[in-house]
Amino acid sequence: MSFRPPKGTDDLIAPRSAGWQVVLATWEDWTRRYGYPLVMTPMFEATDLFERGVGDTTEVVTKQMYTFEDGGGRSLTLRPEGTAPVVRAYLDSGGQGAWKGAYAGPFFRYERPQAGRRRQFFQVGIEYLDVTSPEADAEVIEVGWRFLSDAGVPGLTLLINSLGDPECRPRYVEALRSHLKDRADQLSSDSQRLIDRNPLRVLDSKVDRAAVGEPPKMIDYLCDACASHYESVRSQLDALEVSYKQDDRLVRGLDYYTRTTFEWIGGELNTAQNAVGGGGRYDGLAEMIGGRALPGVGFALGLDRIMLSLGDPEVGHLDAYLVSETGAEEALIVASRLRAAGVAVDFDTEGRSVKAQFKSARKLQAPVILVWKGDGLDVDIQTDDGRQTLPLEEVAEWFTDQV
Ligand code: AMP
Repeated sequence: MSFRPPKGTDDLIAPRSAGWQVVLATWEDWTRRYGYPLVMTPMFEATDLFERGVGDTTEVVTKQMYTFEDGGGRSLTLRPEGTAPVVRAYLDSGGQGAWKGAYAGPFFRYERPQAGRRRQFFQVGIEYLDVTSPEADAEVIEVGWRFLSDAGVPGLTLLINSLGDPECRPRYVEALRSHLKDRADQLSSDSQRLIDRNPLRVLDSKVDRAAVGEPPKMIDYLCDACASHYESVRSQLDALEVSYKQDDRLVRGLDYYTRTTFEWIGGELNTAQNAVGGGGRYDGLAEMIGGRALPGVGFALGLDRIMLSLGDPEVGHLDAYLVSETGAEEALIVASRLRAAGVAVDFDTEGRSVKAQFKSARKLQAPVILVWKGDGLDVDIQTDDGRQTLPLEEVAEWFTDQV
């Protein structure tokens, strides 16, 4: 029996997990402010949903899906991404009109594992459905930007592009195809195969970056409606003071994007895994999976990479540790009172020595140590700044005053 997690997956335990909790709390705060309530969908879906929704020429679908047959002979796939499932869920709910949702959870792709590239990884994301305006795009981008900035991701760059729509994209795809055909002998065999089937995917190829040369730019081919949409998104980002860079090669790895697409690059990450997240508008996705016309815009951010860019902080999860000089029985009651008053406090249930309890407090990185001496109702409060003694009833208030 091996006690290692499966290849490409990780266990997350304290104190690292407490660092994740801080960032997830920041996520909840920003999505709440912008009006995105929680949406949860199953960990697995009908394989067809991803084949149709994500696109059957994407790497995600051709190489990376965890697909299995269940006892009833259905082909199911562990979700490799969140947008197609959320759109499916909204269509299934019979909902009408503008709708928002935020999700957080694990996703699965059979990748070659390395730091920041896992087989099970954690994404947070939002979707804003049944909206078409550039304001919706700008708001979605702003949510990601505010969250990532507040979480403290260093050296953040936002790249944006427009991929046009079914009216103007075909002309661009033709121009790109003919550019790629001229250089086909320099491209990898994977890219050569894509020239006819899906040449946009070649722009996404890391190995062929140099060989692709100077391809035509989508923004030069946008129809009037797409060009004016894109212009509005950019001017609204300016007004919101969200800075960005135009990236002519940004196509993203999933097929469903139309018009606005974007990606955030983290400054401290190694270049192969430096995208902390991205998203865009996906006006055709709902129809691709067999639903009605349902435009939308959203993004997904990889928490594994966000945490890497923050240096994988190890943080304490307690407000205080309670050391009892009179044993566990009294400590249980004292801790309970403090907990009821909102203080995150832990203590030793095993009745170990005072010295061992202080050691636990340090190990758990408790910023405050409360010493219960049992004489009357006083608690000795020890912090890096000194010590003081307060009656038990006043201890919770003391914590409130610290913030
Ligand atoms: P995508 O769904 O491909 O647009 O990815 C959005 C973000 O999710 C990426 O920028 C990464 O931060 C994260 N991500 C995607 N795939 C993985 C993976 N295999 N391991 C870790 N993070 C990932």
